[in-house]
Amino acid sequence: MAPPVKAPGHVSGLFAMDRGLFLLPSRIAVDVTRRQAIGFISHAHMDHAARHELALCTEPTARLVQHRFGNVPTKVMPLGESIEIAGHRLTAYSAGHIFGSAMLLAEHEKGTVLYTGDFRLEESATARAAELCQADYLIMECTFGNPRYRLPARNVVVEMLIDKVAQALGRGATPVILAYVLGKSQEVTKILTSHGIPVLQESSIYQVSQIYQQAGCDLGDVRPYTGRPIPGCAVIVPPRPITPGGLPGAVHVERFHVTGWAMDPKRRRSAPGDHWIPLSDHADFDQLIAAVDQVSPKAVFCTHGPKSFVDELRARGHDARWLA
Ligand SMILES: [Zn+2]
Ligand SMILES: [Zn+2]
Repeated sequence: MAPPVKAPGHVSGLFAMDRGLFLLPSRIAVDVTRRQAIGFISHAHMDHAARHELALCTEPTARLVQHRFGNVPTKVMPLGESIEIAGHRLTAYSAGHIFGSAMLLAEHEKGTVLYTGDFRLEESATARAAELCQADYLIMECTFGNPRYRLPARNVVVEMLIDKVAQALGRGATPVILAYVLGKSQEVTKILTSHGIPVLQESSIYQVSQIYQQAGCDLGDVRPYTGRPIPGCAVIVPPRPITPGGLPGAVHVERFHVTGWAMDPKRRRSAPGDHWIPLSDHADFDQLIAAVDQVSPKAVFCTHGPKSFVDELRARGHDARWLA
């Protein structure tokens, strides 16, 4: 296995790690989860955001971050439009992960860096397709960087979800979908409502959905769950343990886990009888490899995934390192 390379900033002088990623020489923070003077936030998941003195992010991310942290001074970065700041030219590009998610291209006279954040290549019900551009250095997440994580084609997974939910409704059951509060819940909602299945959401999910809608991402026929299932409607709740019949007001529940980890047989065994739908908002193994080929950087720095992915890239001729 490839050894971790510490402080890769010395390779290019363009970035460095200091309990998080910083652009050099400006020290603009990139998805650092501690408050910083200036911080780019790729998307509003909590492992990427903080209440910075000045946040750089897209408009939907700004609204979602404010929902979590209250007022955060923000410089909005519309996708594809560059801003000049502290000697860098910064441009946000769609990351295809959740609504508002963005990659960051940082151009400096010494070279260019593309930071992916969490990403997925193709478009989804609630996110534009990722736009990869060329860069000298690529810093990428590699959550599914193991060849056993190859996801079925997206349209196949979407059909599986709709069919199984419709079948559960046909059996008189309440389909209860366990999905992350921000991102997956809204994506599943949009898929179901656009196929004629109205959705009831637990309140924390519904609050986030309202921000999606205010920011221009229509989710269709969605209402808060008030403790009483409605025949013909699916219910979405956060992924916490619920027993069959454990949803307040529901008699006959069928549980759905909608996650890329559904590819992992160990996880499926952990809750026998449940439905597992491998719908992911992260690139799978083949997409990760394709992304590196598309960017064709001088060097790739990997984060958030198996370190063995570095070896996979090296075997394919890339100069790859672990970002530690
Ligand atoms: Zn994320
Ligand atoms: Zn993440």
